[in-house]
Amino acid sequence: MTEGIILKGIGGFYYVDTADGLIECKARGRFRKTVGKPIVGDRVTLEIQPEDGTGYLLDIQPRKNSLVRPAVANLDLLVAVASAAPPVTDPFLIDKVTAIAAHKEMDVLVVVNKTDADPGDALYEIYRASGIEVMRVSALTGEGIDALKARIRGLVSAFAGNSGVGKSSVLNRLDASFGAQVGAISDRLGRGKHTTRHVELHPIAGGGYIADTPGFSSFETEQMDLVLAEDLQFAFPEFAPYLGRCKFTGCAHVKEKGCAVIEAVQAGKIVKSRHESYCRLYESVKDLKQWEISKGGTR
Ligand code: GDP
Ligand code: ZN
Repeated sequence: MTEGIILKGIGGFYYVDTADGLIECKARGRFRKTVGKPIVGDRVTLEIQPEDGTGYLLDIQPRKNSLVRPAVANLDLLVAVASAAPPVTDPFLIDKVTAIAAHKEMDVLVVVNKTDADPGDALYEIYRASGIEVMRVSALTGEGIDALKARIRGLVSAFAGNSGVGKSSVLNRLDASFGAQVGAISDRLGRGKHTTRHVELHPIAGGGYIADTPGFSSFETEQMDLVLAEDLQFAFPEFAPYLGRCKFTGCAHVKEKGCAVIEAVQAGKIVKSRHESYCRLYESVKDLKQWEISKGGTR
C-alpha cells in the first residue's frame, strides 16, 4: 500500500504524487459511498498494480478542510495577493479571503505586490494592525520573494488575487515551472467564468504545493455563501476580545447601540475598513438559513 496526494483529476483518472513518483489511478475504494468523489489535495492510499504501474485508490484520509469552488482539499495557507499600484486592490476583496480562511481554519497571508511602484503602506498597515500576517514583494525586482518562498515551503497553498495585481508574475517567481501567463488578456477572455479549467497542485522546489486555482483569480468564490451570519464574527479574529461584551446578546455588531465591537472601532482598536467589510459580508449572508448551508456542501 502506498500513500500520496492527488495533484489533479481528469475524466475519472487521478494523478497521485507518491514516493514512487506520479501514479495514474482509478477510484475503486469503498470510500466512494461515504466520502464521495476524491478531489485535488486529498491524501489517499493506493495500490499500485505491478503489471502496468497504474494504481487504484483505496481510501481517502479525513479532510482537514475543503473549498467548494475551486474544489480542493487540505489547504494549509490561503494567500491573498494585493497591490497598491494600479489596479489598486479594494481591501474588501482581501477581507473576503481572510474570512474564508478563518472560517475554513486555514492560515492566511496577505501579500502586497508591486512594492517597486508603490510600497502599499496603507494596505500593509490595515493587516499588520489587525494581526493578520502580511508581506511585501515585488515580482518585478524579486524583493521579498525569498521570504515568501520560505513561508510557503512544505505547505499546500492557494493564491487569490484580483486580475492585474501580479498573481501570475508572483507565482512564476516562486517556481519557474509554474508557467502562469503574465498579463495574458486573451487567456483571460478565453478562460473566463464559463470555461472550466481544473484546479491542479504544482509541486514546488524544496517541498510543498501551490494550487493553480483558475476560478479563484478574481476572488469570486462562493465560499462565503456557506457562512451563517452569526458565525461571521468569528471570521474576524481581531473581534475576539470584544465578543460577548455587547449590551445585547445576539448583537450583530453592525449598528447596534452598546456594541463592544463598534466601540472598539471608534476607539481605533479595530481597523475601520475591516469592520466595514464585516458589515458588507454580514449583509450578504444574513438571510441564509442553516438548511441552505447543509445543502450547500462541505465545511
Ligand atoms: P495577474 O492578472 O494578477 O495574474 O497579473 P499578472 O502577473 O498578469 O501582471 C499584471 C501586470 O502587472 C503585468 O503587466 C505585469 O508585468 C505587472 N506586474 C506584475 N508584478 C509586478 C511588480 O511587482 N511590479 C510592477 N511594477 N509590475 C508588476
Ligand atoms: Zn456587538
